[in-house]
Amino acid sequence: MQLTIQNLNKTYPNGVQALRDVSLEIPTGMYGLLGPNGAGKSTLMRTIATLQDADSGTATLGDIDVLKDKDAVRRVLGYLPQEFGVYPRISAQEMLKHLAVLKGIPGNRQKEVVDALLQRVNLWEHRKKSVSSYSGGMRQRFGIAQALLGDPKLIIVDEPTAGLDPGERNRFYNLLSEIGENVIVILSTHIVEDVKELCSNMAIIHGGQVLYAGTPEASLQALSGKVWNKVITKAEIGDYTGRFGDRLISSRLVAGKPIISVFSDSDPGDGFAAANAGLEEVFFSKINGVA
Ligand code: ADP
Repeated sequence: MQLTIQNLNKTYPNGVQALRDVSLEIPTGMYGLLGPNGAGKSTLMRTIATLQDADSGTATLGDIDVLKDKDAVRRVLGYLPQEFGVYPRISAQEMLKHLAVLKGIPGNRQKEVVDALLQRVNLWEHRKKSVSSYSGGMRQRFGIAQALLGDPKLIIVDEPTAGLDPGERNRFYNLLSEIGENVIVILSTHIVEDVKELCSNMAIIHGGQVLYAGTPEASLQALSGKVWNKVITKAEIGDYTGRFGDRLISSRLVAGKPIISVFSDSDPGDGFAAANAGLEEVFFSKINGVA
């Protein structure tokens, strides 16, 4: 099964063009959709999840026409939105059972399915508590449990690790990495580390456009030997960013010191040293239009 998106466009009534000719081929496995805030990730995710319409373009999931046959998509979709509402009074177990009913899971299987999911996401001990009392990490694990109801073939998780502390984030990574091989999991995120840890394929989007699609390795390979770093002083930042202009990958603080990172086929001199490109450099070089 593959999700194929072709020439998707979306302009909101306020004139913001959130998707510009987006085309992607998304195979099974974990797929990272990486982009800064406002890139268009949620718009794309909501469109695939049949929650809003695109202006033009097509999307197919196996033999399902995603934009037209919404019911068929919903039968195979698990979706963890950026924010989901919960009822304060009912327990996680009851809430999941309620969602199992909505998913059409037969009555005689609901308890078994719900209990197995609660154990799988490590919330069994907390099943009697209300989701509204959960910590951020527990809430996201509950979100995965509800997304897994009904054995979905396409799972969409929108910015799932924003707001989690490092321990919670790790537990969440482990949980996501255990989702079956034969499922498409799209992880939308602005956090480079999410993609680095989990994804075998990725796309970088910015301003509604796809700037890169492929494996993380190939993107790193393309930058190999072309990233040069230099530690500068705060007073020099303006001078360097001006001077390197369209070759500037990033200027950021590392251990309190500004480090400037530039793209160059050969040694730019001036005290720059060859650096190992990581996915951060790929991300910044794409969104800053450097490489
Ligand atoms: P991301 O998920 O990458 O942060 P979004 O898809 O939420 O990006 O937003 C993409 C762009 O579309 C942003 O400029 C955002 O302000 C705008 N946008 C999102 N939703 C709406 C909406 N319902 N109406 C108008 N503009 C919107």
